[in-house]
Amino acid sequence: MKKILSIVLIIAFVISMPFIFNKSVTVEHPHKLDIDGNFILNEWVPSRVGEGPDWNYNLKPVKITDRVWCYFGAMEMPTKENAGNMSNSCYIKGDTEWITWDTGPSYVFAEQAYAEMKKIADMPVKTVIISHEHDDHWLGNNYYKEVHGAKIIGAESINENYFGPRHIEGKDYPGMQTRMIKALYQNATRKTVLALTDEAFEDTVEFEISGVKLEYVKVGYAHSEEDWFLYLPDDKVVLAADVVMNGRVTSNRDGLVIGQINAINAIKAREWDYLVPGHGFITDKSAADESVKYFALLTERVLDKMEDGIIADFITKEVTLNEFRDKDLYYILSPQNVFRSYEELEMYDEDDLIDYVAIEEEKKAKRLAEAEAVANELAAKVKAEEAVETAKVEEVEVMKVEVTEPVKTEAVKEEATVPTVPEVPTVPTVESI
Ligand SMILES: [Zn+2]
Repeated sequence: MKKILSIVLIIAFVISMPFIFNKSVTVEHPHKLDIDGNFILNEWVPSRVGEGPDWNYNLKPVKITDRVWCYFGAMEMPTKENAGNMSNSCYIKGDTEWITWDTGPSYVFAEQAYAEMKKIADMPVKTVIISHEHDDHWLGNNYYKEVHGAKIIGAESINENYFGPRHIEGKDYPGMQTRMIKALYQNATRKTVLALTDEAFEDTVEFEISGVKLEYVKVGYAHSEEDWFLYLPDDKVVLAADVVMNGRVTSNRDGLVIGQINAINAIKAREWDYLVPGHGFITDKSAADESVKYFALLTERVLDKMEDGIIADFITKEVTLNEFRDKDLYYILSPQNVFRSYEELEMYDEDDLIDYVAIEEEKKAKRLAEAEAVANELAAKVKAEEAVETAKVEEVEVMKVEVTEPVKTEAVKEEATVPTVPEVPTVPTVESI
């Protein structure tokens, strides 16, 4: 009996060996842990198709100026009920095409946003410009890429953080998943696929698209790792995205309060009549006031309490921003912002503040000086040319006298015709440059 039992046990052991040593189990797509040890999916989840009609975002564009229309999202976090429509995005009307500023939270959103714009002017979208990496601002990218063949201009950080590998402390991690794909109903996220930034710039650039002058301004690490805003100098419009919010408290979870202040100063350094925030409905000259006040108070109060020796554990109790209590998301986001600022301001250095007004003035002065130099150079050139022409004319006159005196023939007369002075280029005035 004992023998039989031991034979059975040995057989059982042999059979279970591959399992014990884990040899028969092969995982096709092993999952990995992120830097914080959280479980993450290695691959982008293919969009869920499902049945039924697409989510209806019921979008209505709001006209800001003759060139700019925007969609305004709810003052909430992304939820199933708002289907991610909780940020602002805009369309700029060029001569022959639309330019899209931020593409919203999904393919379906982008498709429906464009359908409304098409009613205003039936033009394609050839360029999409993205403000920053948060997924409520760019998940509509693939609609424009697939349907319009548009080029996506945006932050390099999108490619790195969402496609991976993310380089963190010498190690590589796969890209992050977006909130939307996890939070929304499938009829809102269907067809949404991450679309890469095609062109990323190192620094602020100026360009013209379809007759619209644009300045794409880099403000760096502000509300996120890499923020940009768009300035339309002829239209005096700033499309600020999330470095400015109104009517709700900002989310500084990925940002830097000093970077935020710098970003707002860069906006203030430009001349504008309209500003469209990333979240919020105020677009007039007061649009940035709340953000200016919020970040100034946040910095001042946290620094004060730090000076008083308040430690991180108590900072959210000690620093409140009661002036913003009636704003949306105050109770969710403000304590978080205070805590994050504390961490950041421990290393506060006044030199981190950038004087953008001075930089803009310097730029203006430089432009003026350059224009003046060009004008002077041109004037000098014209003068020199004039002198040469006068000399030539005089020479010809002399020749004419010499030649015409002894033999008065038609041929000689013709040869001696005074050459016409070439048209003198107009010297541009300094203001017109
Ligand atoms: Zn954001």
